[in-house]
Amino acid sequence: MTEKPKILYVEDNLMNRMLVRRLLEAHGYAVLEAGDGLAGIKMAQEELPDLVLMDINIPGMDGFEATTKLKSIEGLKDTPIVALTARVMDGDREMALTAGCDGYIPKPINVDTLPGLIRDFLAGKREMVAVAEERVYLREYSQKLVDRLQEKIEELTKANEELRHTDEMKSRFISIAAHELRTPLTIIRGYLSMLTPSGGEATYQLDDNFLDIIGGIARGVERLNTIVEEMLDVTRIESGTLRLYLGPVSLKDVITAAVRKLKPFAEERKQEIVVADLSGMLPVKGDANRLLQVFMNLIGNSIKYTPDGGRISLSVRVIEAGKVLDPYVQSAGRGEFIEVIVEDTGVGVAEEDQERIFKRFYEVKAPSLHSTSKTDFMGGGLGLGLPTARGIVEAHSGWLWVESEGYDEEECPGSRFHVLLPVAAKMAGASPNE
Ligand code: ADP
Repeated sequence: MTEKPKILYVEDNLMNRMLVRRLLEAHGYAVLEAGDGLAGIKMAQEELPDLVLMDINIPGMDGFEATTKLKSIEGLKDTPIVALTARVMDGDREMALTAGCDGYIPKPINVDTLPGLIRDFLAGKREMVAVAEERVYLREYSQKLVDRLQEKIEELTKANEELRHTDEMKSRFISIAAHELRTPLTIIRGYLSMLTPSGGEATYQLDDNFLDIIGGIARGVERLNTIVEEMLDVTRIESGTLRLYLGPVSLKDVITAAVRKLKPFAEERKQEIVVADLSGMLPVKGDANRLLQVFMNLIGNSIKYTPDGGRISLSVRVIEAGKVLDPYVQSAGRGEFIEVIVEDTGVGVAEEDQERIFKRFYEVKAPSLHSTSKTDFMGGGLGLGLPTARGIVEAHSGWLWVESEGYDEEECPGSRFHVLLPVAAKMAGASPNE
């Protein structure tokens, strides 16, 4: 059985689409539909139809522009495109042909003649404009395209401006909210420390029940404090006011401390944390507390995004001066670096998300699946951890990025987070706040 000829109809009006579909299907054609110019181009590229019926007055890119684009695509150059339009301006037909259409059928659709006309175009019929006329229309068409381009650039510039403004407002809101929350939180933490006997002898008797309650409040307050600190860190990074107290830092000490703190959570999830031999590593130039924050975040994420029983491994290597690791790690050319790799056997990160996860508030999964836990499997947080970690690493003249084969909760291809930090020995004397 021979395949039915495929007709793509680009038209925004549903009724017209239905009418043409019924009519052409009854005449043995397969009909594809697209509601606007961009969708039409995409479908034509995918489906390679035998003929395109193009409405001119469609949203976004109009039918003239979509036709010109289609005619520039290899594989569609010889596909007949027939304008089917209700526009009745003088010169519409000539303009359609100048834009690249091979024919022009005015609406309303004549059900008796349309199938025959389509058959003619499929058999090779082509309408032409006289050369002299074509030159005039071509100039008019170019002018129209430039006008449209200008209009679109103006629209985009305005939309961009608005986005920038909204983004600034969002940053300002985070900053204000974090500062406003910090004040009462400090007061609550102060009173809590007076209630708990750990700071000294309590002046009153506390029963176990009461201690439990205080413990619960303290944990909640500490969690809230971490969130407020995360928000403040993001604000500091964005405004370039993150204070670093730089000095030679032993990565062995930092990594060991981070692993020690997080090991209980990994054990709860039956995960193994394997750390390579870190002895003899040159110190890096850094802020020990901030670097601890980075590795706590990366290892914490690996625990979260790796199923029970998985493995998290940390390894370190020295990158010699001048050796460029990755095209986007420009800093690697400038001196000796230490690279720490945090690798896990978790769900991995899809290629399209590998940059996005470093943007504020970006989470791969739906917010409805949000969990407040720091270590539950897939328990997402605020989406501020990685942007903060990258901001800290960048403030150290380093770079943080991820490699992964993709995202798969079943197969778990794993992720490799790389942290690149400059070696201290090559740097001038370290001092606070550099
Ligand atoms: P969150 O608080 O949501 O964990 P992060 O900024 O730390 O925010 O991470 C952003 C997103 O990056 C996470 O929601 C998660 O989808 C993804 N992600 C981070 N670390 C890993 C990892 N080790 N494996 C897979 N996905 C990860």
